[in-house]
Order: sequence, then C-alpha cells, then structure tokens
Amino acid sequence: MEKIDPNFIREVTRRSGTLHSRCYNCLACTSGCQFAHIMDRKPHEMIRLAQLGLKNEALSASAPWLCVGCNTCSMECPNGINIPAVMDAMRELAIIRGKIPEPDIYNFHKEILGSVKRYGRTHKLEIMMRYKLVTRDFFSDMDLGLRMLSRRKLHILPSRIRHLRDIRTLFKKAG
Ligand code: SF4
Ligand code: SF4
Repeated sequence: MEKIDPNFIREVTRRSGTLHSRCYNCLACTSGCQFAHIMDRKPHEMIRLAQLGLKNEALSASAPWLCVGCNTCSMECPNGINIPAVMDAMRELAIIRGKIPEPDIYNFHKEILGSVKRYGRTHKLEIMMRYKLVTRDFFSDMDLGLRMLSRRKLHILPSRIRHLRDIRTLFKKAG
C-alpha cells in the first residue's frame, strides 16, 4: 500500500494556491463536472488523493489530463476550493516526474501553446499537422480534416497578431 507523502501534499497546495485540506468530500464538484464520466478518478477523488498525499496514485490518474479547466466544479464547491488549479498542479508534477499518463493530450497541449507562441493565436492546420507527426497517427481524422478544409474552417497560412512581442514576454515570464 502506498505511503503518505507529506511533500506531495505541500507541493500541490503551493502550486495550486488553494487549500484542498478544506474538502469534506461532499461530491458537489463531481456532480457538476461534464467530464467526470470519462475520468478514471472523479474530481472529488483527486482532491482526496491530494489530501492524503498519495502521490503515485494521483499522478498516474488520467483525470487531470481530461479536465478542461471550465471551473464549474469550483463554483459548486462550498469550501471555495480551486479544483482545476489542483488538476493543473498534478499535471505539472506528472511532467516533472517524467511519467505522463496521457501523452497524446500532453502533446496536443504543447502544439497549441507552440502555435500561440509563434503567432499569438492558433493556426489549426499547422497544429493538426505537427500533432500528427508527433503521434505518427496520420490517417485517423483525415475525413474530418478534409471536410474542415472544404468548408474553409482551416486556413492554409497562419496569421500573426500585431503585438506578438507581448505574448512572447508572457511565455518568458511563465518560464
Ligand atoms: S465540492 Fe469542494 S468540498 Fe465538495 S468534494 Fe468537491 S472539493 Fe470537496
Ligand atoms: S474544471 Fe475540470 S474537474 Fe472541474 S468541472 Fe471542469 S472539467 Fe470538471
């Protein structure tokens, strides 16, 4: 059985900036989450893992990678716990540990952020192409891509925002 890791409790608190220790497991967060049904661990369970310092169990869960950060859960929480911030902290710690339970989702995030850094906005066609190259899954969404192209939902060339330097400064600050 996994031992409690007090450093993990502290680190999740520090990175999330929220007091997950206040959670009394009422399940309101999970009840409001639109994605809970596809998560291996529900939002209230992730908070409980953080409280108990069960690092391995928490960091090997796919739930933080499926969370879209919509904040619905936090709005339901009677204790004002910022649940998506806890999910963020767990994603960061999984990346630092070098074992990412959902590598495809991680790669997708990286491509989106890379596009924002290059152009100040997303260039969907390039994101799709780069993501396909990384995952080496070339044909699974081919029909969708062609449909989007034919409906002019995908632009061939990227366009840059005017104040791209500001965006790059933000990336630098975030480290
Ligand atoms: S809504 Fe808040 S108090 Fe209730 S289980 Fe979720 S995190 Fe805990
Ligand atoms: S922020 Fe994440 S955990 Fe909370 S409701 Fe949205 S998807 Fe669910």
